[in-house]
Amino acid sequence: MTNPFEFAKEQLIKATSCLKLGQGDVEKLLSYKNVLEAELEVDGDNFTAYRAQHNNALGPFKGGIRFHPDVSLNEVKALSMWMTWKTALLNLPFGGGKGGVSCNPKELTQEKLEGISRAYVRAFYKNLGPDADVPAPDVNTNPRIMMWMRDEYERLAGKPCPAAFTGKPVDAGGSLGRDEATGRGGFIIARELTRKLKMKPEETTVAVQGIGNVGYGVANLLHFNGYKVVGLSDSKGGIYDPEGLHPERLLKLKFEHGSLQKVCSVDKEAEKHQLVSNEELLELGVDFLIPAALENQITKQNAEKICAKVIIELANGPTTPDAEKILADREVMVVPDILANAGGVTVSYFEWLQNRKGERWKLDKVNTELETYMKKALSEVMAAAGEYSTDLRTAGLIIASKRVLSAMK
Ligand code: NAD
Repeated sequence: MTNPFEFAKEQLIKATSCLKLGQGDVEKLLSYKNVLEAELEVDGDNFTAYRAQHNNALGPFKGGIRFHPDVSLNEVKALSMWMTWKTALLNLPFGGGKGGVSCNPKELTQEKLEGISRAYVRAFYKNLGPDADVPAPDVNTNPRIMMWMRDEYERLAGKPCPAAFTGKPVDAGGSLGRDEATGRGGFIIARELTRKLKMKPEETTVAVQGIGNVGYGVANLLHFNGYKVVGLSDSKGGIYDPEGLHPERLLKLKFEHGSLQKVCSVDKEAEKHQLVSNEELLELGVDFLIPAALENQITKQNAEKICAKVIIELANGPTTPDAEKILADREVMVVPDILANAGGVTVSYFEWLQNRKGERWKLDKVNTELETYMKKALSEVMAAAGEYSTDLRTAGLIIASKRVLSAMK
């Protein structure tokens, strides 16, 4: 059984050994402020909910809320620790938190989803808030859910608190550009790497696993900037076309027909695309492989079969540490999640700032600021990787753990 929490610890220990930190400091970095669990009762059904608050030395806990049948305590603990390193690496005034509810949103009515969202806020109300812990969307949660959560929080607080949640709809205090921010951040990283590796966008092939908020965002931006997106998938399977796919058109059709593979059986243009399994999609011979679904996708079982030159992790925790060792031996570059998918939390920070200052930023300003943060973090990680002769993940963790430890002290 794969345990992302063990992986998160192993990755951090590798970085702290490069820094030659003592056991006391390592334990400080690995310890959790709060790990909370509650049973939510909604119209006669029970759902288990979690909120892990890893570290707040640099500012309020920050991290998404996931609705998924596989949500577990170990998963939210791992995700909250990764948030601590991500916010520190991007130099944001936040710590790391993460939450989840074990449920299957595909089988729930809107009323039930709203009930779960509001019950979540009531269960953890005392530990949430703009100066305490600021959640955002993650897998299967969206701006609408953040709006219900903000509303419930304000009902309990008895006053407006727009900065208590980020990723809200723009009309309900959200920021322009937040919806596509994680995908855009990933695109900025892909584009910078294309330049550094002296590749040409039109000759660069890409496969994206998961055409959700993040995966669609990055696939669409890459497509419109001349890259060849040749592989795409959702939870039901993948599609491949060496001539290139049109993510925007395919997503519209997926909404109508249910899945990408179904689209290929009903649409004349999409009929030309080949159907591939989720496993095969990961093994395509592409330049950039972008996992943008869930954790534990590239493991020691398939790492030998990965043919991509670069893996850009837009999902959290898609590569296990033992897979990473195999990939390193095969000289596959892995751009870690704490860097590659940090665009979302960075624009969440802009949203929190706008809410607190009563400002509304134009989209251009959001995107320009995002670009500055992402490029700075990428060059810091590249420099640290050179300085410590290590991989990009360890380099990112070295920078982040130094910042967190110094704030704790
Ligand atoms: P989402 O729910 O919008 O999309 C998830 C997509 O993955 C869906 O299209 C689903 O069909 C697909 N999927 C699920 N299992 C799959 C499988 N085995 N193979 C292929 N596709 C599969 O979620 P999201 O917000 O896009 O999040 C995706 C990942 O990005 C998660 O790991 C999340 O933690 C991470 N992330 C999200 C954000 C954000 O701002 N939303 C920020 C940082 C990181």
